[in-house]
Amino acid sequence: MEKPLTIREAYLQASSFLSTTRNTQDVQHVCRLLLEHVLEMDRSELLLSWQEPFPMERMEALQQALQRKAEGVPVQYITGEQEFFGFTFRVSPAVLIPRPETELLVERVQYWGRRLSDRLGKHSLKTADIGTGSGIIPITLALLEPDWQFYAVDLSPDALGMASQNAELHHVRDKLEFIEGDLLQPLLERQVDIDILISNPPYIPSTDVLELQPEVKDYEPLLALDGGADGLRCYRELIEGAGQLGRPPHIIGFETGAGQAADVADMLRAAGNWDRVEIVKDLAEIERHVIGLGNEWAL
Ligand code: GLN
Repeated sequence: MEKPLTIREAYLQASSFLSTTRNTQDVQHVCRLLLEHVLEMDRSELLLSWQEPFPMERMEALQQALQRKAEGVPVQYITGEQEFFGFTFRVSPAVLIPRPETELLVERVQYWGRRLSDRLGKHSLKTADIGTGSGIIPITLALLEPDWQFYAVDLSPDALGMASQNAELHHVRDKLEFIEGDLLQPLLERQVDIDILISNPPYIPSTDVLELQPEVKDYEPLLALDGGADGLRCYRELIEGAGQLGRPPHIIGFETGAGQAADVADMLRAAGNWDRVEIVKDLAEIERHVIGLGNEWAL
């Protein structure tokens, strides 16, 4: 009888297969994620089982996963998850895959939010995340700041379904209110007051969307990417809307595309309500986040 394949050997075969395809960078990392997924193991279980026989009844699932990866499907849509801020989030093609730079936005908003809390002597800050996608921003903040409350708005009901699953997974469902709607529209209709407005909106200029790498343009939701003719449509509408709320939010935190931060900072200053503007660079030294602080902070 033929000697059964060990998990290690299955991993080596999978890596050599993926190395021959065009679509995969970081082959070893991807193979590890696919094996964890197919074998329903975490990283340490996988390492401990390295020399064990590969369960043959999972071979077809592994081959299908490798095939999809070879076709260009992002690994996160195959495994159905992505880590963000050390937490695991469920993802599907209805939502943008969380990017690591967004962690810096969460950190910066948390930093300014805490200072705002001290200033106002108020623990329960009201925060709105517009275009919440998988819900990573409000869910992570809810885990970090249990006293805060969140509106999570998205135009896509499927994205809201995913975000709500993630909120349940992390036991913060009661801190979040999910609302379907376009940008700030639903909050303007309700005339709610919010302390902090956050958004990582679609920001790719429409004509550039087709030039994105295939893994992004063919699989991630267009709705989460296309930011209108100049890519700045959502920032313009969000800043205008923020000025029409009951009172302007004390903090605005945006993620922006490469080369957009200075324009968005100018838009915030020009709106008149947020004099103090901070630009935060990401780990690649790209100006990535724009934080606007209400005029009362200048006092
Ligand atoms: N807020 C989500 C994220 O940061 C989705 C962003 C989007 O779809 N543009 O990943």
